[in-house]
Amino acid sequence: MTDAPLTHLRTLVDRLRSERRLSADGYKALLLCADAGVCEYLHEQARQVAVERFGQRIFIRGLIEISNACRNNCLYCGLRAMNRKLRRYTLSQSEILDCCRAGYRLGFRTFVLQSGEDKRGDNTWYVKLVEAIRREFPDCAITLSLGEKPPFLYRRLYQAGANRYLLRHETHNAAHYRQLHTAHMSQQHRLDCLVQLKEIGYQTGTGIMVGTPGQTVDHLVEDIEYIRAFRPEMIGIGPFIPPADTPFADQPAGSVGMTLKLLSLFRLMHPAALIPATTALATLAPNGRQQGILAGANVVMPNLSPPETRAQYAIYNNKASLGAESAEGLALLARELNDIGYRIAYERGDYQQEPSPCNNE
Ligand code: SAH
Ligand code: SF4
Repeated sequence: MTDAPLTHLRTLVDRLRSERRLSADGYKALLLCADAGVCEYLHEQARQVAVERFGQRIFIRGLIEISNACRNNCLYCGLRAMNRKLRRYTLSQSEILDCCRAGYRLGFRTFVLQSGEDKRGDNTWYVKLVEAIRREFPDCAITLSLGEKPPFLYRRLYQAGANRYLLRHETHNAAHYRQLHTAHMSQQHRLDCLVQLKEIGYQTGTGIMVGTPGQTVDHLVEDIEYIRAFRPEMIGIGPFIPPADTPFADQPAGSVGMTLKLLSLFRLMHPAALIPATTALATLAPNGRQQGILAGANVVMPNLSPPETRAQYAIYNNKASLGAESAEGLALLARELNDIGYRIAYERGDYQQEPSPCNNE
């Protein structure tokens, strides 16, 4: 390759940093770029933007995997209903509160409750759970990641004290969505849920897996444009990891390099967003969490679930849940962060609205 295209790519990175957007061709050129120097330049710019806003500090969220029961059959997920090999569990309210107590003692001020989309008809169970956590931990943020629920339940959970909701849109391309889901699931329904969550007032997170079967660079450009328009407060990007006993068991895993490029693009486009270095990234690459942070991520989500259920929350195989990926391993995480010049931020770390340029007028 000659120098000219590389100079052009660096110019694109500069433009993305200053203007926070590119043309579709511009995104595509950066996603396709394989030059190590340009990729490092992209990560460096994203890292600078994150450090300017947050300092060299990484927010921690305690992840509690409250149930692996799911009625859906997303083809990419080990929790899918048709995976009969998985032993199912659901934590009780008191077990979940115990996880929160343990997490609070360790310094966590955000709890993320995640689960499959269970068949429970009794929605009041969730409301009572959120109320109980809110009562006992008034200074903590409660993040939910429970999948698609009816709007009235989203509203009641918000009124009960939940603050944030994570619901990745997974792919914005309709044909690709169909490749990843069974016929009874609706992409429009998921996108509608995201709109409702934002309207209700949740800090809302969306995102994608990188490298799901059938995903193309054009799909990724569509995802970038959707996320740009939606303006989520949180953006979750992790590589696809093939799970055993699913239709995608023999598919290749997503690319770490592409995941890192996307993290950097999103940091440059959304300087204030909360962007985790995901567990999937840490699972796939030995220093994935550090690489994610050096590409512009500013959140990690150590596992606070009871150690005996962690292996059963098998969205994919060999999911990291020990060492620096575990809540008990915070000291190890602190050392890992220290090695790259960062430290843990123990506060709640809510999304802070960007100062609008119009406010200065
Ligand atoms: N049931 C809820 C939350 C649990 S799944 C929901 O679907 O929203 C949380 C996320 O895990 C999903 O949004 C998906 O992006 C990710 N995930 C699922 N299977 C995965 C896999 N095989 N590799 C990597 N990430 C996966
Ligand atoms: Fe269920 Fe979520 Fe897995 Fe889909 S991704 S099968 S909804 S747990």
